Amino acid sequence: MDLSLSPDESAFRDEVRGFIRDQLPDEIGERMRSGHSARKADIVAWQRILNKKGWAAYSWPEEWGGPGWSAVQRMIFLEEIQGAPAPEVNPFNITMLGPVLIQFGSPEQKARFLPRAANLDDWWCQGFSEPGAGSDLAALKTAARREGDEYVVNGQKIWTSTAHQADWCFVLVRTDPHAAKRQEGISFVLIDMKTPGITVRPIVSIDGSHHLNEVFFDEVRVPVAMRIGEENKGWDVAKFLLGNERTGIARLGKSKERVKFAKEKAREMRAHGRPLSEDHEFRRRIAQLETELKSLEITQLRVLSAQKAGEGRQDPLTAVLKLKGTELLQATTELAMDVGGPLSMPDWADELEALSNEPELGPVWATEATRSYLFLRAASIYGGTNEIMKNIVSKAVLGL
Ligand SMILES: Cc1cc2nc3c(=O)[nH]c(=O)nc-3n(C[C@H](O)[C@H](O)[C@H](O)COP(=O)(O)OP(=O)(O)OC[C@H]3O[C@@H](n4cnc5c(N)ncnc54)[C@H](O)[C@@H]3O)c2cc1C
Repeated sequence: MDLSLSPDESAFRDEVRGFIRDQLPDEIGERMRSGHSARKADIVAWQRILNKKGWAAYSWPEEWGGPGWSAVQRMIFLEEIQGAPAPEVNPFNITMLGPVLIQFGSPEQKARFLPRAANLDDWWCQGFSEPGAGSDLAALKTAARREGDEYVVNGQKIWTSTAHQADWCFVLVRTDPHAAKRQEGISFVLIDMKTPGITVRPIVSIDGSHHLNEVFFDEVRVPVAMRIGEENKGWDVAKFLLGNERTGIARLGKSKERVKFAKEKAREMRAHGRPLSEDHEFRRRIAQLETELKSLEITQLRVLSAQKAGEGRQDPLTAVLKLKGTELLQATTELAMDVGGPLSMPDWADELEALSNEPELGPVWATEATRSYLFLRAASIYGGTNEIMKNIVSKAVLGL
């Protein structure tokens, strides 16, 4: 097993890095470097630049507008985007819906939706989870009854990321409430978010952002032609999609970027009369995180190397990548926040500013580091919780 990058792969890394350096609009790059999360307009603008180059749909085959890259090239691409940092392509369009359409869509569905998904002409969201169906997704209740050429959908979804910004939603609905097994009565449908009967309500998360929503369906009429795959076979489509969702969720590039960022800022901050970067405990923490990131990088290359050699189907080791990757993402965003010390407390700084009419106390990078730390507590929940990942590892990897 060769775990080093080949000369071609190293050249590819340089090409991607050069493209981002030259093409990422300064204004977006500046916002990202100061730790802000990307706005919708930034993501759309950047994804269109990537799409012009043929890179936006980075995991799709050439036939459908992708670059036809190997798994290692895809990993390099993601790491460079996250490390720059530049906005990441919309995962609902590219890693989730796109491959589903390519695998299960009709020729008409592919022709209509794939180019628009790649160019972000349509912004997609994912309507899977419900109040009573998260880890146990097959318990979902949102119902679709058939009336001629239409389904009539009633029910509720929850935790629907960016539903308030979305044009379309891919939704799991129950089309056969009497199926012998719960998994057998589910279908996968595409719903236009402008259809009458849809209500989107915000859920504000702990960082103060509006990313999540509840989505209610009240007698929503959906053409049967918007179903992907066969009726009552949506569970197969969902399993395929969830496998893809987990790939790349480790976000190693983002964690590495956070450590680099923390090291830079630690040179500006002071602890006990000296630069924080010289503090013994701080240096120990950096060394530990960098060692763990290196181990995860090697594990990721092992998984990819097995896939390259054709050994790995849906490799259960991707559960390890998700588990460890999100633990490190949380640890590295915490590090970036800690570097700011008390200046990282956004509410406290804002309040003092209002009271004293003084300019903002904390630098933007520090308060944004806290927002990012707070939001990414959710990384061990979305894409399958880390407890579920441990169940997969114990069964499929350790054979317990
Ligand atoms: C930021 C964020 C964005 C999200 N975006 C979307 C989205 O766009 N679309 C969408 O459909 N969903 C989305 N989700 C929902 C996400 O998929 C669910 O939250 C997740 O699947 C867990 O489901 P749940 O919240 O119902 O928790 P539950 O499944 O009720 O779990 C509660 C707790 O019990 C544990 N648990 C459950 N079952 C087991 C078990 N068998 N063994 C051991 N422990 C177990 C879990 O690990 C967890 O700690 C998002 C969630 C978050 C936090």
